[in-house]
Amino acid sequence: MTGQPMPFIVAERVCKSFGAHQVLRAVSTVFNTGEVTVIIGASGSGKSTLLRAINRLEPHDSGRITIDGVEVGDDLPTLQKQRSEVGMVFQQFNLFGHMCVLDNVTLAPRRIRRTPRRAANEQAIALLRRVGMHEHAHKYPWQLSGGQQQRVAIARALAMQPKVMLFDEPTSALDPEMVQEVLDVMRELAHGGMTMVVVTHEMGFAREVADRVLFFDQGCIAHDAPPDEFFNHPANDRIRAFIGRMA
Ligand code: ADP
Ligand code: MG
Repeated sequence: MTGQPMPFIVAERVCKSFGAHQVLRAVSTVFNTGEVTVIIGASGSGKSTLLRAINRLEPHDSGRITIDGVEVGDDLPTLQKQRSEVGMVFQQFNLFGHMCVLDNVTLAPRRIRRTPRRAANEQAIALLRRVGMHEHAHKYPWQLSGGQQQRVAIARALAMQPKVMLFDEPTSALDPEMVQEVLDVMRELAHGGMTMVVVTHEMGFAREVADRVLFFDQGCIAHDAPPDEFFNHPANDRIRAFIGRMA
């Protein structure tokens, strides 16, 4: 990116508890337009909860989240518009099992954007081509490998033409030989200028693709640095140990 960073998602002192367990402790950060931010950190440190709060799948208790300057809250029309601009890809691909690949990808544009079937199909085929799945458009999820299903899930999220893509451990449920094909699609997306927030344990991807790496520790952002600094000059022993375990 050249020029001034343009904040797209802003979190200000976001707190979230489940009962007595404080999962997000006044998290403040910014995800800039066109940047790839990778979030790493131990299991249970609050990474998914932050992504879910951005989509309001999990309402936060206090603090503020804005997307493109508009606060994330309970106003339904605003929330629906925001959700259509925020694509999300989960660890468990969550494709609709009773629908073929093409219908999985066209469902949201047809239902929510009222895109006519023919135009939705054309757009879907183009997206499926981008993720290398156009030859499988008429298959059902059960006929696909995990890596193929995840690539379809990415195409499905892209079908709403989101302004930002959130990925929550998109390769963690995959057999090792399928991890790379999904990372390749994500790398292409990043090179195309997509704004991305990626929770992952794939340190190679973080080093190569991230503009920034955030390290979550017990509900706080314990470190925030460009990948070169993050990996080559770990800020403290916890981070050094974490990187060591993941390598
Ligand atoms: P991470 O993604 O970093 O592994 P999470 O954000 O999923 O962490 O979870 C942080 C903590 O919050 C964990 O201890 C988890 O058990 C707890 N948690 C997450 N979601 C819920 C929920 N819906 N109800 C109760 N506890 C939850
Ligand atoms: Mg998680």
